[in-house]
Amino acid sequence: MRAAIVTGAGRGIGAATAKRLADDGNAVAVVDLRVEDTTETVAAIEERGGKAIGIGCDVSKADQVEAAVERTVQEFGRLDFLVNNAGIIRDNMLFKMSEDDWDLVMAVHLRGAFLCSRAAQKHMVGQKSGRIVNLSSTSAVGNRGQANYAAAKAGIQGFTKTLAIELGPYGINVNSIAPGFIMTPMIEQTAERMGVSLEDFKAGAAQGLHLRRTGTPEDIAGVVSFLCGPDSSFITGQNIYVDGGYRL
Ligand code: NAP
Repeated sequence: MRAAIVTGAGRGIGAATAKRLADDGNAVAVVDLRVEDTTETVAAIEERGGKAIGIGCDVSKADQVEAAVERTVQEFGRLDFLVNNAGIIRDNMLFKMSEDDWDLVMAVHLRGAFLCSRAAQKHMVGQKSGRIVNLSSTSAVGNRGQANYAAAKAGIQGFTKTLAIELGPYGINVNSIAPGFIMTPMIEQTAERMGVSLEDFKAGAAQGLHLRRTGTPEDIAGVVSFLCGPDSSFITGQNIYVDGGYRL
């Protein structure tokens, strides 16, 4: 049985991805900030006959990340897939953005992906196989009120391409996915901050997309599954937009 780590897997895209990778037959380490936040996802996987453990870990802290990866390898005996999904938003216009809001977003998205990938690659290089999937965003090309998040998500794409170059010789594929509007608690937070109802926010977003609908966490989980599966073995260093057609 292969083994996966999914960060930020207590809810949203991460939870759907953890369940999908478990359905694909993998053992899954469900990582989130607090271990109690992993309970629901772990229980859902076990109910479906899958194998999972929950780990509390702040991805921006090196010692916690090292411990999470070691625990996964101890439990499952190997590590095949890492999905760097944990994320936060601290949106504000540039002139109102605090240093803390800048630093926190960089710490979770960029430092988090760096620390988790560095800890995971040791095992993958030893095995001479592995897949890393990083979560970018359509915001990487710029989005009002998200200077910190856009910079982090653009950074994720450069990080992905560089890891693909460095880890390719060891049989490790590294790709990123840039989701558009996916209905998760993160979107609920954004609607609240903008003072619009979730339904209006969702309907407005859908009108701007070719497919005229917003995405689901499962829309992203399916692409992660593909990028961790046999049919994508010759794909590396790519960023895949999964956004229902984002009309610019
Ligand atoms: P979400 O619902 O807010 O879930 C994110 C998860 O990450 C939460 O469980 C959160 O825990 C966890 N997390 C936050 N900081 C962490 C840390 N330091 N260490 C470990 N876990 C941490 O977000 P989502 O919408 O599913 O987004 C998942 C990923 O997709 C993110 O990288 C996001 O930027 C990206 N994305 C989302 C969308 C979208 O439309 N939803 C679009 C483009 C990209 P807490 O609950 O404790 O905060």
